[in-house]
Amino acid sequence: MGVAFLPPLFHRYNQAFFAQTIPCDQLRLSWSRRMSRAAGSYRRRGGLAQITLSLPVLSPLPASATHSTLVHEMIHAWVDLVLHRREGHGPCFCGKMEEINSRKTGLTVSIRHRFPVPPRPASWQARCDCCGAVTPYKRRVTGLACRTCCGRFSGGRWDQRFLLRFERRPASAQDQASWG
Ligand SMILES: [Zn+2]
Ligand SMILES: [Zn+2]
Repeated sequence: MGVAFLPPLFHRYNQAFFAQTIPCDQLRLSWSRRMSRAAGSYRRRGGLAQITLSLPVLSPLPASATHSTLVHEMIHAWVDLVLHRREGHGPCFCGKMEEINSRKTGLTVSIRHRFPVPPRPASWQARCDCCGAVTPYKRRVTGLACRTCCGRFSGGRWDQRFLLRFERRPASAQDQASWG
């Protein structure tokens, strides 16, 4: 659970699985709040490579998901920076992945990160000042009135007394799985 500090994990696995060959001075490790379509990515522009892990995908999952995603991206880094091969999940990648999995360290790497990708979190919420109900929304909507209060006090007709007030959803609420 939560967010791991990546450099010690990188060094541990660089030693355990790659004989410390992945050059850490050419590689940046980071968490992304915005990347939510994949658990991790490896990219290189010129001399600087980057491994990015997704905070929204991985933070709700057990730590093992972060570890196996990091090692998956480290295999990409190794294929690119050490072997200088251009392949996606090709023979070099798969050979290394099988070697790591066969060592039965408890860490399993797969080609697809089979993790649930969370739906885009609602970043707005609408509050009814009359009944206090708060409902998450992905975007702002104007002219919405509280259905409960309109039903209770206006015979179900739209009533501007119960207009919803839109506000930014606090980050802590966005992280919860039970929104919407
Ligand atoms: Zn991959
Ligand atoms: Zn209301």
